[in-house]
Amino acid sequence: MRTHNKRAGLLKGTAALALMGVLAAAVALPALAADKVTKDVAPVTAQALSEHIRILASDEFQGRKPGTAGEDKAIAYIQDQFKKIGLKPAVDGSYLQNVPLTEIVSKADGPMVITGPKAAPLSLEYFSDMIVWTRQRTPHVQVKDNDMVFVGYGITAPEFGWDDYAGVDVRGKTVVILVNDPGYATGDPALFGGGAMTWYGRWVYKFEEAARHGATAAIIVHETRAAGYPWGVVANGGSIPKLSLMPADGGLKTRSAVEGWMQLDQAKAVFQAAGLDFNTLKDSAARRGFKAVPLPLKMSVGITPTERDVISHNVIGTIPGAKHPDEMVLVGAHWDHLGIGPAINGDTIYHGAMDNASGVAGLIELAKRYTKGPKPDRTLLFIAYTAEEQGLLGSEYYAQHPLFAPNKTVAGFNMDMLSSVGLTRDIVLVGGRKSDLEDRLKAWTDAHMMALNQEPFPERGYYYRSDHFNLAKIGIPVIYAHSGIDSVANGAEWGKTKEDEFTRLHYHQPSDKWSPDLDLSGGAMEVNMIYDLSRPLAFGTDWPKWYDKAEFKAARDKSMGK
Ligand SMILES: [Zn+2]
Repeated sequence: MRTHNKRAGLLKGTAALALMGVLAAAVALPALAADKVTKDVAPVTAQALSEHIRILASDEFQGRKPGTAGEDKAIAYIQDQFKKIGLKPAVDGSYLQNVPLTEIVSKADGPMVITGPKAAPLSLEYFSDMIVWTRQRTPHVQVKDNDMVFVGYGITAPEFGWDDYAGVDVRGKTVVILVNDPGYATGDPALFGGGAMTWYGRWVYKFEEAARHGATAAIIVHETRAAGYPWGVVANGGSIPKLSLMPADGGLKTRSAVEGWMQLDQAKAVFQAAGLDFNTLKDSAARRGFKAVPLPLKMSVGITPTERDVISHNVIGTIPGAKHPDEMVLVGAHWDHLGIGPAINGDTIYHGAMDNASGVAGLIELAKRYTKGPKPDRTLLFIAYTAEEQGLLGSEYYAQHPLFAPNKTVAGFNMDMLSSVGLTRDIVLVGGRKSDLEDRLKAWTDAHMMALNQEPFPERGYYYRSDHFNLAKIGIPVIYAHSGIDSVANGAEWGKTKEDEFTRLHYHQPSDKWSPDLDLSGGAMEVNMIYDLSRPLAFGTDWPKWYDKAEFKAARDKSMGK
């Protein structure tokens, strides 16, 4: 409630707004009186968050990369905090869940060569024209004169009545795939998520689906807008050491031998060599009834990987429920960042203050706020995930090896990059139209006289780019929302400038550092918002539900035995 009072205080100059504030408070009163939690618990403060961030993002923690000395420091700090607060260790008396990872560095032996009957061989240079890697445990990958098939968006989605792999056998072949999904390509609201990216638009999904169909190589055509990032990001991401969760078969049967991307211009040349027009085929791929097109081409490429095993850790603590201890309300934030990397402005430590020391600070302070109040009816589960920056691996491992039954996990909340620019009048929901947690959030923003906005770039698929997504995949309703740009003190234009500035100058760069000037009041508000949203679940008996059209509803129904 203090957050609300503070906001009202800041808005005091405007009589109309102040009056609305009084009305909102009056409306909220009966709900409060009926609340069995009568003792007010002091909310999370900006100062408390700042202190954790200062420590976690300091030079000593070396950017908190999994499997390094920085990890040892980070997980020791989080365990120490969990212990001080009085959280119960979740793993046989320990806070640590071991997460076995394999680090693979891939390098192409030479260019990717594509030959056909009608044109001269095409030679695609590593890094500048294409990027390839392997996630198989193998000393060497050699693909020679492999048949190629264009599989459109590479999607098999029964709930949308869509199957790009229908009627074509891609086993042992190279599939060429478009990025994003037909809804994005056409803007047709009846197709997939319309303009908003669905899980089927993400590249991770496309590699998984190609492997399920037995493809030897899966190559995605890069387009900047549809992918959400430029070629440089894709090429860099593909060439740096990759940590992954290694399946029991070493990925030999469960993953394609080759995964990668090719530049748009190269893809156009490849289709031309097959006597086909890329744009024409791309258009047809977005239409219902599209059939995969075998290309009269052969692809060859070699990859030499080097591998190393790493044991990393999720840090997990609970506040056991008094009445329904087997029912869980989950809150998560990733503790890892990028470690030490190329120097930018003379600094090689990627501190990750906002990304995501801030989320861990929020996790610790939220847990602390709960421990100061009465014991919840249900169990509260606090997870600091590892290896988010490596592809959401800690949360994926938890989803594969949950400590508590997913169908008893009531709901989940995620904190990834709290706000550092002060209080705002708006909250942004990442990934709308998913579950009724959104209705609860809307009620909260209404009560606080704030606007609830949809994310400005739904085509970028941010919902699929943080840890809550792995919980959604196993059916747990999860929500991720954060402060918007409409600054209470400085307005929306200023807020937008600040946000762009952070993305350009600090995001995933060494300069994402702690400073006493970070205004964490908005961050504290976000943490207290999660407290307000999770509390009725922790002290209640209801179960949030996916909307009927949400792509994760089927997983929930299945886990509930429906
Ligand atoms: Zn990040």
